[in-house]
This record gives sequence, C-alpha cells and structure tokens, in this order.
Amino acid sequence: MRDIEPGGDRDKLEEVDEWQLYASAGYASSELESEEIESEEGNSEEIWFDGDDLEFEGSTVNWDSPPCPAPLGIAHVIKIGVCDHCLARVSGFHSKGSGPDSGSLIREEAFLRDADLESKIVQDYCPLCENLFDDVENIVDRVFETLSKTEFSTMQFGIHLPKDLVQEEDRIRSKYGAPGSYHLKGAIVESIHERIRGLGKEVDFVKEKPDVMVLVDGLTLRVDVDVRPIFLYGRYRKLSRGIPQTRWPCRACRGRAQGCESCDETGLQYVDSVQDLIGEPIRDALDAEDTSFHGMGREDIDVRCLGSGRPFVLEVKKPSKRTLPVEDLVELVKGHAPGKVEVDRFTWCTRKKVNEVKQSRSEKTYTIRFRPEGPVDKETAEKSILSLDGQVIDQETPQRVSHRRAAKTRRRKITSIDKLSFEDDEIEITLRCEAGTYVKELVHSDEGRTTPSVQSVLGTDCEVIWLDVLEIHYE
Ligand SMILES: [Zn+2]
Ligand SMILES: [Zn+2]
Repeated sequence: MRDIEPGGDRDKLEEVDEWQLYASAGYASSELESEEIESEEGNSEEIWFDGDDLEFEGSTVNWDSPPCPAPLGIAHVIKIGVCDHCLARVSGFHSKGSGPDSGSLIREEAFLRDADLESKIVQDYCPLCENLFDDVENIVDRVFETLSKTEFSTMQFGIHLPKDLVQEEDRIRSKYGAPGSYHLKGAIVESIHERIRGLGKEVDFVKEKPDVMVLVDGLTLRVDVDVRPIFLYGRYRKLSRGIPQTRWPCRACRGRAQGCESCDETGLQYVDSVQDLIGEPIRDALDAEDTSFHGMGREDIDVRCLGSGRPFVLEVKKPSKRTLPVEDLVELVKGHAPGKVEVDRFTWCTRKKVNEVKQSRSEKTYTIRFRPEGPVDKETAEKSILSLDGQVIDQETPQRVSHRRAAKTRRRKITSIDKLSFEDDEIEITLRCEAGTYVKELVHSDEGRTTPSVQSVLGTDCEVIWLDVLEIHYE
C-alpha cells in the first residue's frame, strides 16, 4: 500500500477514498495515523488504496458488506443488531475510544450517512455478545457482595463463555469486524475492570498471584470467588514434649467434626499441635478458614526442638484480612502458646517457599540422653562412642515407622560428636548428623537394624531417655 499520491486520478479516488479513509483508521492504533487522516480532510493530498482487491484472512472481501471500518461494514453490523459495546470494539475506530459511548457515536454517524439505516435493523439482540455487556454492572455487584468482608488489593478475572457463542462471535467478527478487533472475552473482562475502576475501588488487575480470583459464567452469570491463601515463613521452637507438629486426628473417631467421647469432642488425639498453637491465633486474627502447616521435616512427638528452631511455612487459607503486621502475629503466638511453642519472627512468602522448605536437606545437631543396661567403664565407653565420630552408618527403615516408610537401607554420616557426659548411670551426647539420620536408632540400634550403633560399640543394650533437636543448620 502506497501512502500518498499527490494529484492522483480523481475518478479513482472518488471510488475508494471513503473506504480508504476508514481502512487506515482500522489498522491505526496509534494516534499519529488517525491525526494524519483528519488533517487530510479538505486537503488536496489524498490517500487511496492501491489496488482493486483486498485479500482479507484468505478470502476476497465482499464489497457489499466489507469489514469495518468501511462505512458499509459498519452499516452491516448495525443492521444485524450489534450493541454499542460491540460496535465500539469491532468498528475499528480505536481513535474514538472504547465502550458504549463511542459505540453510540459511531452509530449516530452511520445514521447520518444513511437515513434509512435505523429502519433496517433486524433485531435489538446483539449477535456478538448476546447482550452480555448489559450484565456487567450486575456481575460486578455480585463480586463485591461476595467479597464485602474480604480484604484484597489484587484481582484476577476469568470469564467462561458458551463455546457456540464464542464461535459465532468469532465468525461474525472475522467477516465484518475491523482487522485486529478485540475478542469478546477480553472485551468483557476489560469492561468489568472499567466498571470496577469507575466505582473507585482500589484494585490492581493481575495475571498471576492475585489475592482473589473471580470466575464468571457468562451463561448463568454465576460468580465464583476464590480467596487465595497467604503464606508465612518462620522457625519454631518446641519447648515441651508430647506435642505433635501437625494436627493429629483422634484415633477412635478419625477426627470427625463433632469428635467423640475418647477425644472430648475435639476430634483430636492431642489437643495441642505446633500447627494449631501457631496457626490458630493467626487464623483467628486474619479471620481465615483454616491453616496448613509445612515443616522442614518433623521431630517425634516426644522430641523437643530448640536452638533457632525448625523452619516452616504456615499456609493461611481463605483469609478475610491479609495485611496485619508480622510483628503483631509474633505477639499473638507468644500469648497463645507460652512454654510450648515459640516463633521469633515471621516473613510473608509465597507458595514457592513451601517447596523450598520441604525439599531442603539440612544437617542437624541433637542431644540425646540414654541409659546403658550393663555397667560401663567411662573411659572405654567414651572412646567407643567417639569412634563413631565421622562414621557412615547404615540404617534400615526403623520398625516404628515401617508402616509409612518404604523398607530400605539408608547410609548416613555422623558428621561429628561434639559433647559427651556421664551422669549417674546415664550418658548424654551431642552430635551433628546428616539430614535423615534416625538418631534414637543410632543409639539403641533398633535390634541391629542400624550398624554400627552406640549400642554395638558399647556392647550393651541402650535405652533412650530423651532426645532434643538442638539446631537445624539451615541458611
Ligand atoms: Zn454486543
Ligand atoms: Zn474422637
């Protein structure tokens, strides 16, 4: 296509100038081109289409109703009943803005060009959107009704449209719409966004990680709102034995909601869990539905976890609030679980951190106290135990976890034995081991399933009294 032909053939121009005037507008999304067209009105310099045929999406244009923005194209889509919203988006008049106002302007101009056009309209039901744009206000009202008690700053919108509507819309738009016209789905979502902005709501529309996801069914106008979870990263210390890490359903009633006699109607085998001691005050403060607890491994119920604590991510599900200062959350936990569980600080994170925490393999330092059955000579015993320093041990899956862990032999390294002390007939050792070492089994050998073990080097049975996780060497 050539741009400008000064003093061109007037006859040819008259045939095509009107079409060309709009055709350029159709391709023009930039201000510049539309300005050029305006400035050419009444100018001796004219532009025209340099050819007598136009290939459009593989088919020759039907000159009786060419695609918009040709006036005949616009007249055609008006005739078949297109609404102002759809007229605005398929007409190709980007320069006139979008929305129903620009649509009605384009319609008025078309009526001025053809006085009979209005009487030729076959229906007032828009074949492109089935008047869906009329429901935008209603949809937005429903969304905000559903979210009236929910705090959010970002939103992602999706709309589900019936397949036959999408196909029919696409067919009509490809044939009569201006090239590059916005498809229905995008236009509806954009119209919803505009309506929300118009209401003065402070919402950012995002394409990923929204606070709330809204899905609208274009057929039934059903609105589904999904409030996305928020994630808190922290490290917990468990100061008291007898607390499981996560909620543990009652064995008798399997944790059904109303509980049973044996669990005092709690549905829980243990009233306390690290998950609820930390999660419940936070769930309450954020008016959330529930929590999930993602720990970097877990200690046994009877094992304390000290030092800087075990890393975890608390997932707070369907929170009504999501902007409380993390310092306040730390205080809430402090007030809720004194002497049981402590968290020094929280940071907000994303779901990605869950995987990071779950997949991390950190060395740990433990203190374990045990009692050898037979009498031991302190000096010999110390030497024997220290011989395990830096050793690699083989551990078959412990009997106590064999119901939930695959049977296999794990090879683990005892990185170091840092401390050893005797008190009465008991021995306490502090040792650092590779991730995944079964430390109780390292001491009592699990009937010979762990080799070598403290028991095997001492040559007498050993009974574990208690175990503490002293440090998880992470970050
Ligand atoms: Zn429409
Ligand atoms: Zn129960």
